[in-house]
Amino acid sequence: MHDHDFDTVIIGAGVVGLATAYYLSQQQSVLLIEQHPHMGEETSSRNSEVIHAGIYYPHASLKQRWCLRGKQLLYEFCRRYKVPFHALGKLIVAQPDQMDQLQALYNHGTATGVELQELNQQQLQQLEPCVSAQAALLSPTTGIVDSHTFMQRLEALALQQQAHIQYRCRLIEANAQQQGWTLRLQSGEQSFTLRSRVLINCAGLHAQKVAQRCQLSSERIPTLYPCRGQYFRYHGHSPVSHLVYPLPDANLTGLGIHATVDLSGQLKFGPDVNYQSDLDDYRVDLTAKQQFVSAIKRYLPTLDWSRLQPDYSGIRPKLSDATMPGKDFQVEFSRTDCPAFVHLFGIESPGLTASLAIAESITDWLQGSNEQALLAN
Ligand SMILES: Cc1cc2nc3c(=O)[nH]c(=O)nc-3n(C[C@H](O)[C@H](O)[C@H](O)COP(=O)(O)OP(=O)(O)OC[C@H]3O[C@@H](n4cnc5c(N)ncnc54)[C@H](O)[C@@H]3O)c2cc1C
Repeated sequence: MHDHDFDTVIIGAGVVGLATAYYLSQQQSVLLIEQHPHMGEETSSRNSEVIHAGIYYPHASLKQRWCLRGKQLLYEFCRRYKVPFHALGKLIVAQPDQMDQLQALYNHGTATGVELQELNQQQLQQLEPCVSAQAALLSPTTGIVDSHTFMQRLEALALQQQAHIQYRCRLIEANAQQQGWTLRLQSGEQSFTLRSRVLINCAGLHAQKVAQRCQLSSERIPTLYPCRGQYFRYHGHSPVSHLVYPLPDANLTGLGIHATVDLSGQLKFGPDVNYQSDLDDYRVDLTAKQQFVSAIKRYLPTLDWSRLQPDYSGIRPKLSDATMPGKDFQVEFSRTDCPAFVHLFGIESPGLTASLAIAESITDWLQGSNEQALLAN
């Protein structure tokens, strides 16, 4: 007779919760709960769908480690389970006054082990005749993925492995007891309790609130700085066949308003950077168009600007504001305090790329096969 209903309960069916359910359900009983009627309705379907190469992140950070490992796992997963993707490559372009920054990025990226090729103006022109810049870096391992199909595959595989997934179900409260967690959940009008040995918080923008409801001590809960990123779509033939990025913002607040070609060949630009307090304000402000035009003009000067129209936005669950140094992902976890828990905070970009690596690390740590798995080096 078990003293718990599930080995593990995971809160949040975004890409990270789904990946974690897929990994853990290979060995144990898992319940994944999601407050919305469908998976991935928040940040996981409001992003650039880029498989990042891992060029930018500080050495030994979780972002760097999980991006590098996640990229490899994600390409393998896409090939194995027929998730549409395209390793189309990315150009990071520099204007004449940015050559030192480009060199520094090249040094950092190659020291990380990421493949990067330096292109002079002529080589860049041959590759992308419409792009205007002094020089560029080509990252051939950067790609794009159909994130919705990716999440559908994760869900289907987890279900095949007998994971339970409960939609329209919200965590209200979790209490730690000697034998495990007692969770109070709400589904429609109904509220019920169940027990699990382990609790994993993959609640994205709501991770701080969920952690409070799980009685995590306040000094372990970082402040959330929600940051909306807006996109504008280019209605017309894309003049570029690579992803085209300017150099990143200071403190990596954003990667700069970049050009992304999706799997249907459509071109979009974004995301920009707008700190806000609301977690559900997904507006795309038409007045931002002028700022988009100015930013894009620096590297793609000859677009027909009348074809640039507001598209969608996503909110980054950041752990720093624009005045602070950028922060790493933050993981609060314990297996020695009984019962075990993992809380994931600040899973902004490259969280989609990193999702399978995060799930792999949580699994390794829970199994005791890698005690360091959830720590930055
Ligand atoms: C503008 C933008 C662009 C980005 N571009 C990229 C990119 O190109 N490449 C990349 O790798 N990454 C990118 N990212 C980052 C990536 O999208 C995220 O890191 C990733 O989607 C996070 O997934 P998640 O599962 O942690 O969170 P989410 O997708 O937010 O999922 C959390 C889920 O938890 C649920 N939940 C919350 N509270 C509760 C509760 N109490 N009970 C039940 N359910 C609950 C929510 O409803 C939600 O569905 C981008 C992000 C943004 C905002």
